[in-house]
Amino acid sequence: MKKKQFKAESKKLLDMMINSIYTHKEIFLRELISNASDAIDKLYFKSLTDDSVNLNKNDFKIKIDLDKEARTITLTDNGIGMTAEELESNLGTIARSGSLNFKNENAENENTEDISVIGQFGVGFYSSFMVSDRVEVVSRAFGEEKAYKWTSSGADGYTIDEAEKEDVGTVITLHIKEDTETEHYSDYLEQYKISELVKKYSDYIRYPIQMEMTHQVPDKDNEGEYITEINTETLNSMVPLWRKSKGEIKPEEYNEFYKEKFMDYSDPQLVIHSKTEGQATFNSLMFIPENPPYDFYSKEYEKGLQLYSNGVLIMDKCGDLLPDYFSFVKGLVDSADLSLNISREMLQHDHQLKVIAKAIDKKIKNELKRLLNNDREKYDKFFSTFGTQLKYGVYANYGMEKDGLKDLLEFKSSMSEGYTTLKEYIERMADSQESIYYACGESVGKIELLPQLEAVKEKGYEVLYFTDEIDEFAIQMLMEYEGKHFANICKDDIDLSTDAEKEAINKMNEASKELLDKIKEALGDRISSVKFSNKLGSHPVTISAEGYVSLEMEKVLNQMPGANQGIKAQLVLEINSNHPVAQKLENADDETLKKYATLLYSSARLIAGLDIENPTEFSDLIADMM
Ligand code: ADP
Repeated sequence: MKKKQFKAESKKLLDMMINSIYTHKEIFLRELISNASDAIDKLYFKSLTDDSVNLNKNDFKIKIDLDKEARTITLTDNGIGMTAEELESNLGTIARSGSLNFKNENAENENTEDISVIGQFGVGFYSSFMVSDRVEVVSRAFGEEKAYKWTSSGADGYTIDEAEKEDVGTVITLHIKEDTETEHYSDYLEQYKISELVKKYSDYIRYPIQMEMTHQVPDKDNEGEYITEINTETLNSMVPLWRKSKGEIKPEEYNEFYKEKFMDYSDPQLVIHSKTEGQATFNSLMFIPENPPYDFYSKEYEKGLQLYSNGVLIMDKCGDLLPDYFSFVKGLVDSADLSLNISREMLQHDHQLKVIAKAIDKKIKNELKRLLNNDREKYDKFFSTFGTQLKYGVYANYGMEKDGLKDLLEFKSSMSEGYTTLKEYIERMADSQESIYYACGESVGKIELLPQLEAVKEKGYEVLYFTDEIDEFAIQMLMEYEGKHFANICKDDIDLSTDAEKEAINKMNEASKELLDKIKEALGDRISSVKFSNKLGSHPVTISAEGYVSLEMEKVLNQMPGANQGIKAQLVLEINSNHPVAQKLENADDETLKKYATLLYSSARLIAGLDIENPTEFSDLIADMM
């Protein structure tokens, strides 16, 4: 048949594989075995409902043959096979879109680094070109009479021809490259090497991976002599990692398993492995990634855990097993309580699945709590990566989940170097303090410049710093923590002054009513009121909000897609009664007062992190004054 060209993207990846100087070339075997195992899974599934599959559970296997002279490795599986069209579409185009997307994002340097990243990601079938100069795939699909052979020597394209094959399944032959000065490809033709690689990467594969092994054994009849014995051996233990007991598993094994299965290039930051018995009996193995998955913030991202029934995969991403606030968790659940051929729709209503989901949720929370208590540094790192999700969890569904999550929250604050939990805040609280104080801003730096902060800190009160958009919404949903309410220091109703101070400032406001009215008039409906205040420390002016909507909330709500821009915080212009500007205002004539009003209002907006409506007017006024 005529030679066909690879699709452009596939060719690019293939070129990288062929020329790869990536040191972990050995992963090609894992990739091919994993494909074979998937193909067998598919046929095994079919066999459960389709009598025309005349194979029993124990007939399924993967076979490896080595031929040193011909320099070939042959992998044979009796899985579902591929039709001519499938050979074309599966092997002519890159299937793992994930790895290429990832590559594009990281394509700054086209050489070693991203190859290693890609290698760890697993690119499936194409990785065989890292060690072979020619690859042949002979396959007969289930239900087809004809078999086909796909052949390629790499970048120059591939051919597909009719072929002979008696049974359903796939045979892949790799023609191993000649050794070079730096690479000893011949190792892959050695039994011990292949056996070692199977144990290292594919031990848990559910089907036997068999190979003929040659052993020298003592000859019983001739003392001191040896004879050569050749046996077909199963190289893998076939026990899935998650079914082994924790004590048997090394941390590297978890890490390798995670990276291979969930296509990540970093080790996970937390591994949660457990066996649960009770209302539901299941094994679970979950991972919290080091970084958010590359598509985590896109609409395409799908949360979920793999679902196994007695070691057989029945669903790749079971979303119902994870609450949204744990959508970053990767992993799997294996339960004997679930039926094998349960459909997706039925599964949603499955009682057993709900019980498992609940237990999973609890398990993750407990592990996170344990981390928080035992390894704070690690927890803080986790929180800085995924904490926002937990805060959304507190806010979502009208706060339905808030109680389970509130103790996992952390915030920056005026009294702690790193993060603080709400519990720690309460523990530090002075007896006289009635509320949990917080301030909102884009960053810790900006919050620390807020005029209101000084007075609260002077009282010895700690202030939580809310820098995430969701923070204030989450906290309003929480309403209180251990009986203490939350108070925004930038809200108008915060008043920490003594009774005497209160009386003094009220008097001053009453006495200055005419002046304040004039300022209000000059600013029109841009503000809802003006007043003198004694809580600004050394700062001249600030803006606060009265009513339910705070300044931060106004910003966030108006940025939301579909927002009608109509939500406005009611602004109060607060002028420091102890600052020289107060005197200036008293002494100003009406014309000047108008200008002062605009200046003070505009600078207060800037301090609050709001933009000013008329920057030209503001700058003209300043120039005027000068
Ligand atoms: P991935 O395994 O991530 O999908 P691969 O490039 O490894 O990507 O394989 C592409 C596709 O080729 C697979 O999804 C599968 O449909 C098919 N395939 C590969 N190997 C086999 C096999 N041994 N038997 C049947 N189909 C296979």
